[in-house]
Amino acid sequence: MEARAIILGAGAAGLFCAGGIGAGAVVIDHADAPGEKIRISGGGRCNFTNLRTGPENFLSENRHFHKSALAGFTPHDFLALVEGAGIAWHEKAAGQLFCDGRAGQIVTMLVERARRAGAELRLGTRITGCRHDGTAFAVATEGGVIRAPVLVVATGGRSIPRMGATGLGHDLARQFGLRVTALRPALVPFTFSDNPFAALAGVSLPVRVRVRGGRAQFDEAMLFTHRGLSGPAMLQISSYWREGEEIAVDLAPGRDLRAHLRDARALAPRRSAATLLADILPQRLVQHLARHLARHLAPDPDLDLGDALGTIPDRRFEDIARALHDFRLRPTGTEGYRTAEVTLGGVDTRDLSSRSMAAQGVPGLYFIGECVDVTGWLGGYNFQWAWASAHAAARAIAGR
Ligand SMILES: Cc1cc2nc3c(=O)[nH]c(=O)nc-3n(C[C@H](O)[C@H](O)[C@H](O)COP(=O)(O)OP(=O)(O)OC[C@H]3O[C@@H](n4cnc5c(N)ncnc54)[C@H](O)[C@@H]3O)c2cc1C
Repeated sequence: MEARAIILGAGAAGLFCAGGIGAGAVVIDHADAPGEKIRISGGGRCNFTNLRTGPENFLSENRHFHKSALAGFTPHDFLALVEGAGIAWHEKAAGQLFCDGRAGQIVTMLVERARRAGAELRLGTRITGCRHDGTAFAVATEGGVIRAPVLVVATGGRSIPRMGATGLGHDLARQFGLRVTALRPALVPFTFSDNPFAALAGVSLPVRVRVRGGRAQFDEAMLFTHRGLSGPAMLQISSYWREGEEIAVDLAPGRDLRAHLRDARALAPRRSAATLLADILPQRLVQHLARHLARHLAPDPDLDLGDALGTIPDRRFEDIARALHDFRLRPTGTEGYRTAEVTLGGVDTRDLSSRSMAAQGVPGLYFIGECVDVTGWLGGYNFQWAWASAHAAARAIAGR
């Protein structure tokens, strides 16, 4: 079969690109249903964009690469499509847009847009090989060979293999002579060997968290789990963390704990530090800290959070405040690709055009979406990259 363009992957980027190219585009995916990650995204409501999207919300070895595509297709452009399809939405946290109803509405919108434009979807189709035969790309599938002068690779990253993620995009990049940067799971919970926080599983906190050296900082919620730490703050910082590094957590951001303890001592000297802290922090966490005082409030092994405030000198308030505002943790690892929301790294942007996503030196070959070395923060940025990079490629392909 001959096509105008072959798109590998019927996920966010592939479907959106198909709608932009239209007639003659054939989308191939080994999954039986399109857009499976969209369907489960945002807790089933799909955080489909972020109105505050800026280049600073992305990680890439080239921090300028994504600017052009993001400027060419903005969150408002995608929102216009969502509204045009009659999909009700709401803004949850600052700038984060979610569907009011099920995330499947976005999939339906993308599939209908692609089909209306004349693109064809071949789902449940295993790809057995891919090469350039001198005049066109030839993709071998169980259903036969499809040839086209254009090949768009939109097969995503390696996260969540049980949902069909594979390394095909990265393998194809290497096959055609493109470089691939180091890959690692990102937006992923941390694990600890012999998790010291297991007893706190389920406790959540509004925290400020940063990685050592202040390379990145996020003010978001954190959650203790049976295996370690999760919640938006931990997922965000996981993209910046490297094995062996410490993370520092401010357990009481925006408060001056030292002054708070001192003021409380003046008012109620017989009250214990532990009961005072339990006004600010979850009781279970305070109990845990009290039990592990020697380890976590190391400066003073004699210090007991059960002591009356009136018996605690100022310098010990300082120790307590420092320990809670700068709570140091050294994760053993992460949950890995099994649960990571995205893959950090990908096709090296030095080998792609930032305007069109076209591969340098291989005419007709494009890489879009998560398989490229552009990774967004949590909060709708990854879908915005999928739409924007797909739009850039579709525009270039339509104008060929
Ligand atoms: C649980 C979860 C929740 C998320 N929530 C959000 C959110 O709310 N907001 C946000 O912005 N981002 C979210 N993300 C990230 C977002 O889903 C991805 O960044 C986005 O889907 C990437 O789009 P893509 O088209 O590049 O890849 P994908 O959407 O992953 O699509 C890739 C497609 O390629 C197909 N494919 C892969 N390998 C092969 C192969 N060998 N042969 C044939 N087909 C293949 C796959 O089946 C898939 O359909 C979430 C991710 C996860 C895992």
